[in-house]
Amino acid sequence: MGVTPIGGKAPTLASMLQYSDEINYLCLRNKTLAQFRAGLLRREDVCDAEFLLQASAHHHGRPATYACPICGSEDLRIVTWVYGEALGRASGSARTPEEVAGLLQVGQQCSIHEVEVCPNCRWNQLLKARTITKL
Ligand SMILES: [Zn+2]
Repeated sequence: MGVTPIGGKAPTLASMLQYSDEINYLCLRNKTLAQFRAGLLRREDVCDAEFLLQASAHHHGRPATYACPICGSEDLRIVTWVYGEALGRASGSARTPEEVAGLLQVGQQCSIHEVEVCPNCRWNQLLKARTITKL
């Protein structure tokens, strides 16, 4: 006989992850954008996403809820990179939170970096770094 949860949803894989040690790079992002708008940085200085980063944003990224700050494209994407010994060969690859949850054993941790990438102008910027633990 199956067990039917009453009055609640079954936990998703992503909900089994606990986030901690968040470092927010919003100040750095704003500073970079301010320097670009002031003419202190050239477009090629800030729009330099490599092919791999652009491809990973396309395949593994999720749509951002806002437009690209450089070119205004609505195709801006957020891609999550994962790092850590517990991940084995998956360390240093782009993954969704669900995939990260599937890669970790209970109690294991890894670091994730969220990067915004514009496929139109190649703008890319680290947004935040966090530690995640599988519960
Ligand atoms: Zn752009």
